Amino acid sequence: MTPNANIIVIGAGLAGIAASLRLARLGLPVRLLETRKRLGGRASSFTDPTTDVVLDQCQHAVMPACTHILDLYQQLGLHDVIEWHHRVHFTTEHNTVDTISPAPLPAPLHLAPSFLAMRGLSLRDKLAIAYAMTRILTLGKAGRERHRGRTIAQLLDDWGQPRTARRRFWDVTITSACNDQPENVDAPLALKVFQEGFLATSKALGVGLPRIPLVELYQPLEQELSNAGGSLELGTSVTRITHEGGRVTGVVTADGQHRPATHVITTVPPDRLHKLVDANLIARDQRLANLDRWTFAPIVAVHLFYELTDPPLMRLPHLVTPDRPFDWIFNKGVTTLPPDAPIDHQGPVQHAHLLTSGAHKAVLEHPKNVLKLAKTELFRAVNSVERSFNDPKPSFLHGRVIKEKVATFSPSPELMSARPAASGDLKGLYISGDWTDTGWPATMEGAVRAGHAALCAVATDLNFDPPPLPGDMPAEGISRWFL
Ligand SMILES: Cc1cc2nc3c(=O)[nH]c(=O)nc-3n(C[C@H](O)[C@H](O)[C@H](O)COP(=O)(O)OP(=O)(O)OC[C@H]3O[C@@H](n4cnc5c(N)ncnc54)[C@H](O)[C@@H]3O)c2cc1C
Repeated sequence: MTPNANIIVIGAGLAGIAASLRLARLGLPVRLLETRKRLGGRASSFTDPTTDVVLDQCQHAVMPACTHILDLYQQLGLHDVIEWHHRVHFTTEHNTVDTISPAPLPAPLHLAPSFLAMRGLSLRDKLAIAYAMTRILTLGKAGRERHRGRTIAQLLDDWGQPRTARRRFWDVTITSACNDQPENVDAPLALKVFQEGFLATSKALGVGLPRIPLVELYQPLEQELSNAGGSLELGTSVTRITHEGGRVTGVVTADGQHRPATHVITTVPPDRLHKLVDANLIARDQRLANLDRWTFAPIVAVHLFYELTDPPLMRLPHLVTPDRPFDWIFNKGVTTLPPDAPIDHQGPVQHAHLLTSGAHKAVLEHPKNVLKLAKTELFRAVNSVERSFNDPKPSFLHGRVIKEKVATFSPSPELMSARPAASGDLKGLYISGDWTDTGWPATMEGAVRAGHAALCAVATDLNFDPPPLPGDMPAEGISRWFL
């Protein structure tokens, strides 16, 4: 039985994909409108004109605790699309590699053996980090709230973390997870990351990387939506959300058409949403106040292609590079260029990818400088920890610099408390997207959770039972007492 509902979802990023697929499967009439000609929003791919290779805009990683996005892949009929790395490799300033991996000990002791063996941290750093981790664990989930309004940098200062522990451990982990410098990151958010991503269970440690380009992950969506009675329109830009008498009435698209809707889920970022709502609507709905005040943090990434060498450029799947200009180096392996690729090289080449999060300085650099630095940093890392490529280095073929100036919102204490809920004052308007109130950092997992929150709100308003959604990873061992 379909009630008298007509649902529009604005934006086919992960939040929009997750919400629309689940709504359609509930038997509700849903139309997903996306301004671009491709799916995935910020978590997508493009065809590099120089190599003709489909590249992810930037490497996107998930953790085992990202239960909602892993569920979305299942919903799309995708199995085994994530390659898991449960050993995480850090470079040290002594030109060695420290590997963190879970030991068969009750959580949180699963991390102790590899943590104690880290050569990149002094004994003083280790004692300080262990102390802070104990504080983080024993705070429990509820204790995070005691630090609302503060940044994680302030908390680390309170806990006496030495500069070296900040540089060699905290900064890179916080920035990678929350996409901003610890000085800008809300303390409860970072505490959640450490509690759930490191301490709760040995199963939570890992880096999951898609085996195929991101854009290919979403290919089943259109068919799945249409099988369930929904529809997808690419290249359709919403210009305005309409309302009357305290209730949403639909959207206007760039062709001037008014498309009536009883329920509208918007998944666009706050600065975009600000352009879709008029002053009357803002006055009616508290969630829309200050949309123009949101600030963002950049990510800068570089794709590098080299001639194939034997042995290859990198052996390890990735390197976390604390206290260096880039945070991560990913070994993207060997890629075969199409025969008609414009670049003067065909057949297999090797591909490395470097990225830096919370990149407020790097984003201002000229791309040429970023490229030069990426090449230097790549060889610095692989020469020091894996093998020597001094003589001769593999021939460089091509590099592409990606600057995402507004990659995600900056998770400051002020903005964290401004994150809107899915439902609010204006009936029929549901706000979703990675920046909304999920409790998660602005990530793919946060976006899918936001999509699911909007779906549940719509379903509930229509007197439908929301579908069963995945739970969080349960804490284990000693951590169970606290988390
Ligand atoms: C460089 C980079 C690296 C990242 N790395 C990671 C990572 O490693 N792991 C991780 O989990 N997350 C990562 N993220 C974050 C992750 O990509 C985002 O949190 C997530 O994709 C956001 O999804 P969303 O659906 O909320 O928003 P979006 O992806 O922004 O989706 C919104 C959609 O709305 C569309 N749209 C906008 N305006 C309109 C309009 N007027 N009409 C119709 N459609 C419209 C947009 O085109 C877009 O498709 C990264 C982000 C970036 C930029």
